[in-house]
Amino acid sequence: MSNITVCARFRPLSSKERRDHGDGVCIRCIDTETFILKDEKEEDIMFSFDRVFCEKSDQAEVYEFLVLPIVRDAVNGINGTIITYGQTGAGKTYSIEGPGILECDEQKKGILPRVVDGIFEHIKPDKMAKYSIKLSMVEIYMEKIRDLFDLSKDNIQIKESKIQGILLSGATEMSIIDPAEALQSLSAGVANRAVGETQMNMASSRSHCIYIFTVQQELTGDKRVKTGKLVLVDLAGSEKVEKTGAEGRALEEAKMINKSLSSLGNVINALTCGSGRANHIPYRDSKLTRILQDALGGNSRTALLCCCSPSVFNASESLSTLRFGARAKHI
Ligand code: ADP
Ligand code: MG
Repeated sequence: MSNITVCARFRPLSSKERRDHGDGVCIRCIDTETFILKDEKEEDIMFSFDRVFCEKSDQAEVYEFLVLPIVRDAVNGINGTIITYGQTGAGKTYSIEGPGILECDEQKKGILPRVVDGIFEHIKPDKMAKYSIKLSMVEIYMEKIRDLFDLSKDNIQIKESKIQGILLSGATEMSIIDPAEALQSLSAGVANRAVGETQMNMASSRSHCIYIFTVQQELTGDKRVKTGKLVLVDLAGSEKVEKTGAEGRALEEAKMINKSLSSLGNVINALTCGSGRANHIPYRDSKLTRILQDALGGNSRTALLCCCSPSVFNASESLSTLRFGARAKHI
């Protein structure tokens, strides 16, 4: 990975937090990069990220700072990954999808619909170049990969090809020709996610959802092909479920999630501290890191959005989310 941008985002206090725990807020922003978290022991811990988005920040700000540079690169053949990390309820899905994929309120639109618009704005089909855009959507639950465009494909395997890199063998790839069509496909995938959850009796917060856009540019002159992959990842909740005394399947889910989130952390660390050294990158430790292998490694850009609740009640989970972000950046 050539670089990683790490940001923190604090959503507004929810009405439930206000009702159950009062309006106590554990976070204070100092400037656009620095903020202070008051932990459970009332101690101040200062963080400095590439950017902090406080509760008043809107979706456009997040998109422009964190995502737009990656969209620009992807249409030029450079891979990129955008990851949302944080406890359940912290704002990961809100950041990625917005209140809904087909949301019309320009202010509330999430990263996904903005990415779709961004891709189509930045490709300029002409006599020199032809473009094709493909979209896949999968979910990882208990280390099994499901196709969100075709729920009958519930055990997708990962393959690696010399030319195309990491492939999800047999996963549906939708060809996208205009933004409206892309949004329809995405919203069908999101609806399928809910159907699958009901069938399997699980919560979306227990699975990782992965959106993969592949933008291929063919230069008509010399037939050269450039391919950029843009991957968005809405991670499973990072909360420490073990502490709550979970048993049975909930505990198994928690262990799998823990394992894949820590392997993600390890891969990012190995990539960001590998100054020229041919160090081992443990992509194979989880399905998540294996899928992300070529979107994270090589010549690529990564953005990590650490989503947090501002409530004092969630201070220790927020601290653990921010520590994950700080480690990723080696701060
Ligand atoms: P997660 O995906 O991390 O579990 P969600 O994105 O579903 O969390 O957010 C939990 C709740 O908080 C949702 O009702 C969502 O609409 C709301 N929310 C999250 N972030 C924001 C925000 N930046 N502004 C307003 N509401 C938000
Ligand atoms: Mg979510």
